[in-house]
Amino acid sequence: MKIAVLGAGPAGLLFSLLIKRRNPTWEIRVYEQNPADATFGFGVVFSQGALAFLERDAPDLHAQLSARMERWPMQRIVHRDEQVDIDGNGFSAISRLALSQFLQRLCHESGVRVDFSHTVSSLAELGPADLIVGADGANSLVRRTFESQFRPRVEWLQNRFAWYGTSQVFECLTLTFRENADGAFVAHHYRYAPDMSTFIVECDADTWRRAGLDTKDEAASRSYCEQVFAPDLGGHELISNKSVWRQFPLVSNHNWSAGNVILIGDALRTMHFSIGSGTRSAFEDAIALDRAFGEAGPHVPAALAAFEQQRRPVVEKLHAAANQSSYWYERFPDKLKLAPWPLAYDYMTRSGRISDERLTTMAPAFMARRPT
Ligand SMILES: Cc1cc2nc3c(=O)[nH]c(=O)nc-3n(C[C@H](O)[C@H](O)[C@H](O)COP(=O)(O)OP(=O)(O)OC[C@H]3O[C@@H](n4cnc5c(N)ncnc54)[C@H](O)[C@@H]3O)c2cc1C
Repeated sequence: MKIAVLGAGPAGLLFSLLIKRRNPTWEIRVYEQNPADATFGFGVVFSQGALAFLERDAPDLHAQLSARMERWPMQRIVHRDEQVDIDGNGFSAISRLALSQFLQRLCHESGVRVDFSHTVSSLAELGPADLIVGADGANSLVRRTFESQFRPRVEWLQNRFAWYGTSQVFECLTLTFRENADGAFVAHHYRYAPDMSTFIVECDADTWRRAGLDTKDEAASRSYCEQVFAPDLGGHELISNKSVWRQFPLVSNHNWSAGNVILIGDALRTMHFSIGSGTRSAFEDAIALDRAFGEAGPHVPAALAAFEQQRRPVVEKLHAAANQSSYWYERFPDKLKLAPWPLAYDYMTRSGRISDERLTTMAPAFMARRPT
């Protein structure tokens, strides 16, 4: 059995590793446009319990990853310089590069061949394969190649964001809201290593234009953001890694496979970064696809059907929650008229799925601070 995997992100690497471990005689070849030591962004965060599936399905990986992670038991909202802590809303985080290199090493040790610095511009380059896995991210070539079969939907959010890092170390996952004469900004920030943090800056399109960020270059944009968040950065700089302003695409597909071609991870559907589930979902896809082959053996149509049947209900539920969360951010400037606690409450209940009872159980200290 010959499998070609496009993309060495979390989805492509984990699937390749698991399927090779399960079937050492199968030939697995991964194509990746970037060099081995490159990645976009800085750290990634996982919501509490998000890695429980990994603990269950790949305990050795879970133990090794856990040892490399930062973790904290609560989330913080900063608005009008006031901190509101939400207990019980814990997260963990890891460097994206460390995660990638960890998976790369395991793939290498298992005999997966990964061709780095190899941009695939046509699937014809992959040669004959029994299975093609499109793990090539939100702008997937595999998806675009079989567009009429996958029938994708891509909705571009209007907010703009830039993904920075900083050596300022934050206590926990924090959302900091700041306003100036140009408009409203929010930073999603958290430490992902003892000495490094992710710092994503987001604003609405009107604020972005008023601030001139549509014409400023990378260095000028970074300097502007440093000024907006000066009270939070404590004199530390923002660090750029191709940190250009982007819009987030909400991707979904009507069909998940086309013949012997399957999409996984962001190529299949994106999860807005505000719920910390994109990488986790990419991992879950990889685990489910490997398991489907475990049951079906080399019978590709049966495995792809089983994969979709198992994953679709879970993915659609989480995807709806992620989209709901992203729409909250699209309206966040209007929310800033709320005082800090009501803003935090509005944020926590944004999916419409958390009742006061559940929130009281989950975050008793936060709910006890509810203004009367
Ligand atoms: C600002 C931001 C913050 C985020 N924060 C978080 C977070 O905190 N927690 C979280 O869980 N998720 C987060 N995510 C989402 C997370 O990054 C993705 O969900 C995750 O990386 C998806 O993994 P993937 O393997 O499907 O795709 P990707 O990580 O995008 O990997 C796809 C790979 O395919 C390669 N590729 C693409 N096209 C080609 C080609 N033609 N030829 C060769 N190679 C190709 C790319 O170079 C890339 O390495 C965030 C996303 C963004 C934008």
